[in-house]
Amino acid sequence: MKSLLKYLFIMVLSSSLTVIALNQFAPIVITIPKKDKQEIKIDFDQTLTKKDLKRIDRKAKNIILLIGDGMGSNQVTAYRIAKGGPNYITAFDKFPFTGFVKTHAVDTLITDSASSATAYSSGIKTVNGYLGVDKDKQIVGNITETLYEKGYISSLIATSEITHATPAAFAVHNESRDNTDQIAEAIFKSNNFILLGGGRDFFLPKNLGGQREDKLDILSLIKEQERYLSSKEDLNNFEFDPSKRIFGLFASEGLIRKENEPNLLEMFNFTLEQSEKMLVNNCAGFFIMAEGSQIDWEGHENDFNDQFKEMDEFNQVVDRALEYAKLDTNTLVIALADHETGGLLIEMDDFRNKPSNKMKISWNTAVGYGTHTGSMIPAFAYGPGAENVTGVIDNTDIFFIMKEALGLDELSDRQCL
Ligand SMILES: [Zn+2]
Repeated sequence: MKSLLKYLFIMVLSSSLTVIALNQFAPIVITIPKKDKQEIKIDFDQTLTKKDLKRIDRKAKNIILLIGDGMGSNQVTAYRIAKGGPNYITAFDKFPFTGFVKTHAVDTLITDSASSATAYSSGIKTVNGYLGVDKDKQIVGNITETLYEKGYISSLIATSEITHATPAAFAVHNESRDNTDQIAEAIFKSNNFILLGGGRDFFLPKNLGGQREDKLDILSLIKEQERYLSSKEDLNNFEFDPSKRIFGLFASEGLIRKENEPNLLEMFNFTLEQSEKMLVNNCAGFFIMAEGSQIDWEGHENDFNDQFKEMDEFNQVVDRALEYAKLDTNTLVIALADHETGGLLIEMDDFRNKPSNKMKISWNTAVGYGTHTGSMIPAFAYGPGAENVTGVIDNTDIFFIMKEALGLDELSDRQCL
């Protein structure tokens, strides 16, 4: 009673005589401002923290870059638990090297897929929405262009439209990811040997049932000049032909998981098989970028059930790539995301510290529904050059890590096509 009276006395004093009482009476009541009222000023220094790379003596011949779009560390963790509990071994758990990747864009803390994939393909930070161009809209060479000069076979695979931001950043130079007409045309003209995914509509004009605003019928050109695959059956029945590039467009936009569409693993296995055959054909090596595009889409939708299916498919591809690299011993595999999507949370179903074997999944973003977040994302690596994927690295470092692994600057020019 005595202490309560003392406390009330102090409260009255401290609220009415704050200035005088502040340093003389305790306790001092501190009001914590609402989180969203807190402003922290950040001087956004655009100087990059470039990782000091370890020199790789035994070079990689091939690179497999696997991008789980929107796959943060919580997506990996939640997938593991939902698949078989916290001790289940996913493909990600089998990698000897891991690092954390900072994902911010040149002028923004939260990246989109275009600027992030440009960091991977070209080693530069750019503006959200930009593909293969820097912040001043100047063209920056990408890894598939350089590799083409060195006699490499490059392939891009996605479960989204092949014109979507991530694959496009490895093939085109455009100041907007929304210029799909231009992007489809540039992908057609690029030097990538195998292109598999959705997005047929962006190669066909509107009057022929597509979505192109211009009259250019790229699909006819593909059918005339290259090998065109439109179904899983086409993929399965394909006979090796090193003289023509391969275009597999299996859906009008993103893949919708119909029976006659190949899944990511089938597209990946096909590409791996064709790439290996091309090596016999005097090619120096291969580069494959495969994207689990729709992990991100389900993050935007806040749909964990469907995200689990996307993660499960991506996990199989990561496993297959790792298995290949272990046998081959000349292949660097890097599996990572471009950013996290949805602010996925893994919580207990009840009060703190109460024993529980349940996992409660929720999504949390400060600005509403399913946006990208700014958290660091995990990167996993195996093979020659993998030892540079450690510690905290910038997304632009991934490009230089791949370059060092291949010894790209020392490779001489050659042709394989
Ligand atoms: Zn993305």
